[in-house]
Amino acid sequence: MSRTIFVTTALPYANGSFHIGHIMEYIQADIWVRTMRMSGHTVHFVCADDAHGAPIMLKAESEGISPRELVKRYAAERPQYLNGFHIEFDHWHSTSSPENIELSQSIYKDLKESGLIYSKTIEQFFDPVKGMFLPDRYIKGQCPHCKAQDQYGDSCESCSAVYRPTELIDPYSTLTNATPILKSSEHFFFRLSDPRCVEFLRKWTNGQSSNGMSHLQPEVLAKTREWLGESQDSEASLNDWDISRDEPYYGIPIPDAPGKYFYVWLDAPVGYLASLKAYCKKQGIDYDDLMDVNGSTEQIHFIGKDIVYFHALFWPAMLKFSGRKTPDNLHVHGFITVSGEKMSKSRGTGISPIKYLDIGMNAEWMRYYIAAKLNASVEDIDFNPDDFMTRVNSDLVGKYVNIASRAAGFISKHFNGQLAYVGNTDALITAQKDAAEPVRKAFEAREYGRAIRLAMSYADTVNQAFDNAKPWLIAKDIKQANHEQKAQLQDICSRALAGFKALTIMLAPVLPNLANTVANNLFSDETPYKWSDISSLPQQIQPFKHLMKRVEPTHLDALLEAPEEDNNQALPGGEAIAETIDIKDFMKIDLRVARIINCEHVEGSDKLLRLVLDVGEGKTRQVFSGIKSSYEPKDLINKLTVVVANLAPRKMRFGISEGMVLAASHANEKNNPGLYILEPWPGAEPGLRIT
Ligand SMILES: [Zn+2]
Repeated sequence: MSRTIFVTTALPYANGSFHIGHIMEYIQADIWVRTMRMSGHTVHFVCADDAHGAPIMLKAESEGISPRELVKRYAAERPQYLNGFHIEFDHWHSTSSPENIELSQSIYKDLKESGLIYSKTIEQFFDPVKGMFLPDRYIKGQCPHCKAQDQYGDSCESCSAVYRPTELIDPYSTLTNATPILKSSEHFFFRLSDPRCVEFLRKWTNGQSSNGMSHLQPEVLAKTREWLGESQDSEASLNDWDISRDEPYYGIPIPDAPGKYFYVWLDAPVGYLASLKAYCKKQGIDYDDLMDVNGSTEQIHFIGKDIVYFHALFWPAMLKFSGRKTPDNLHVHGFITVSGEKMSKSRGTGISPIKYLDIGMNAEWMRYYIAAKLNASVEDIDFNPDDFMTRVNSDLVGKYVNIASRAAGFISKHFNGQLAYVGNTDALITAQKDAAEPVRKAFEAREYGRAIRLAMSYADTVNQAFDNAKPWLIAKDIKQANHEQKAQLQDICSRALAGFKALTIMLAPVLPNLANTVANNLFSDETPYKWSDISSLPQQIQPFKHLMKRVEPTHLDALLEAPEEDNNQALPGGEAIAETIDIKDFMKIDLRVARIINCEHVEGSDKLLRLVLDVGEGKTRQVFSGIKSSYEPKDLINKLTVVVANLAPRKMRFGISEGMVLAASHANEKNNPGLYILEPWPGAEPGLRIT
């Protein structure tokens, strides 16, 4: 039966460019959407910029532009990422659109009519210089528990304590450094603690959709059961939700409440509906009919694990008690790490998706790799450069793409592109269907890793059959071959190409561009492929053209190279001095004198040298250092230098690096490539601490 499905990803906050985490989520959702469309289902796949809130307002202000201009700038960047990674949303909207303003206000009015909105006066920190109430993240002070300095208003990064901003010792505004004052103001609340909400949410979170899938994954349900007081020894501890903010605020005005705006988290998820509504208008689809509260449209949200609270509690409750359709499934995923490290722009350990495309890396390598790592749980996945290269080169290219290049040549050369099969082909078609159906099911269940493993196992089968039949032996003596032998050669290659087409269909949700190229340029098939195309064997091919290159180590070197600091290039004398720190910050860095016991080139790297260091620990350490351009290994052996000894070990492509050797360099290394290793004066010994 054909299903109608409304799919969204989380709305990206419009104060920055996409990072690899966004791209991973969009790829995950895009693969699922394509899978469902290949089955003949109707899918509406939309997203939007999350355009409101204090961070956008303040960032725009600091740049001297309007929030709308700031959002527009990031919105303008979006297509190059989305097109670049073959992510095909049907529509991209904004939460500052007329549709979202209308929907947010009408949902609010409906909730008010249900008796779930109330107001009360609360006291909050107010920046008297800036003239605004301060969000928790814009207040810092001393932690009330461990007394660490410069902690945020909601939690301490040093001891992990959670507290109210008013508990901070010596609080200050990060906007103006002013001491905030307590000021009272009327706020609006959504009564999440209402017994009706709790009862509904207990039912909804434990329930399943008409499509037979649970609303929530088991790990997510475990979390909501805790919040809803369903676990042992816990009571429902839902706080009512403060949904209003005072002006100045960039957001949607609350009806009949001058100077009050919806907190950005209220109108952000409503943006899903607003985007769909705008899309429906464009397509001539009846939105009200599509989203009828008793209708059969499935509503599915792909989100990260950090925003479960909003999507599993507030959002279904908002929809339910405003008389709207509630979501069918939340598909929650984990984070993506790079070589085991959480992404961080400042440490340069993330992967820039735009750089990935700019240096000519194939978007479908990334789609394939991410698919191979993902499953239906909320586990984090790791981008590991070695693993990436192996999976793409050995599996994707080596096992799958190569089938076509191995078999197509014989068919073009000896049979003018005509395929022919010896005997009955029913068994072949059945085998292909039997191989593809579990792959389709795995994709639908979001078990992408399993889908990829199953497809690769079928690729092994196709390759083995080809290898066992040794068609090259017949081809070598084709002039002496009889009719039967020629037919055999044609059959072996035709079956391999049929296997290749079947695999192309199985992988089409992940590799849409390659699948279309194969359909258009090799088999002259209609695009895009559907799952049902698995039953039609190819009958002819056009001459084979190269389909996909391999990943080169140089690609990964370029991708993982730390980003250049562009904020320092205007300074002729050198780099601006970093932010002031106190002695405690400095003492966190354990600098030691080290002796370079050995130093050598690193095969395959044009930047790194491998150093073996004695740091006075009774054992040696391996450190990789990007100093190849400036030193010959032999010149460094037995020299003393300085090393950051307590830096977390970092896995690099060539091994683990256990520290960092200090070297001086120019701010702009491109124009001024010199690098100078630090060397202590004579008399220093390995292990001495530098203070
Ligand atoms: Zn603390």
